[in-house]
Amino acid sequence: MTKTHSQIETLLAALLQRGVNRIGEILIRGEFELLHHADADRSDLQFFNNPEDAREIAKYDESGNFRPLKTAPNLRCGWKLVLRDLHELREALDCFYPAMPGVLFAHECSALEVVDLRETLNRQTGMYAVTKKISNKQANELIAGFCRSDNGCLKTILWRIDANTPVTSLPPCKFDPAANQLGQSVLAIPLLCHEACNLLVAAARNKVKSE
Ligand code: SF4
Repeated sequence: MTKTHSQIETLLAALLQRGVNRIGEILIRGEFELLHHADADRSDLQFFNNPEDAREIAKYDESGNFRPLKTAPNLRCGWKLVLRDLHELREALDCFYPAMPGVLFAHECSALEVVDLRETLNRQTGMYAVTKKISNKQANELIAGFCRSDNGCLKTILWRIDANTPVTSLPPCKFDPAANQLGQSVLAIPLLCHEACNLLVAAARNKVKSE
């Protein structure tokens, strides 16, 4: 186990100790049972006990469609994943929400590099180079639909359109790591977006080309 892995596990343990036992749509009970938060009262859940099982659970939504964006609010219900220790917990969370434990740790250490949207788009080449042409208004419209927490993505956005231009088309809680993106009052471990994902870049291309 690397030093960083053990530090991430220490961070997870501290959060759980403080009663922060939700991440995305997942509820973490005891040491350590993971399930969809909507399944908290169910007793007929399918049992898993390998952290790698999280990858399969997270692959398809309730209707059997592939989930290209693992932080979309469409994690399926009906399962329970029981893990032995913090090491397995970190591994499983990394499968459910790829890279998110490490990104959170970097953020907590003030070592997370946040990349504004313009910088991400200005780096694009080939078929995505056209995304450089997106206007701030188009970007705001796109982000409002694509990144919204209720049917887009549960990440908390840390970037801006550029250094002087915040995203204005989503509510302030979308940018607040202390806010639960499910709109619930319980505390949650945040899923942090420090740079626009490839899916948003692809959608920006479509937006520019269609207009
Ligand atoms: S850009 Fe970030 S917040 Fe938006 S969909 Fe992609 S990962 Fe989610």
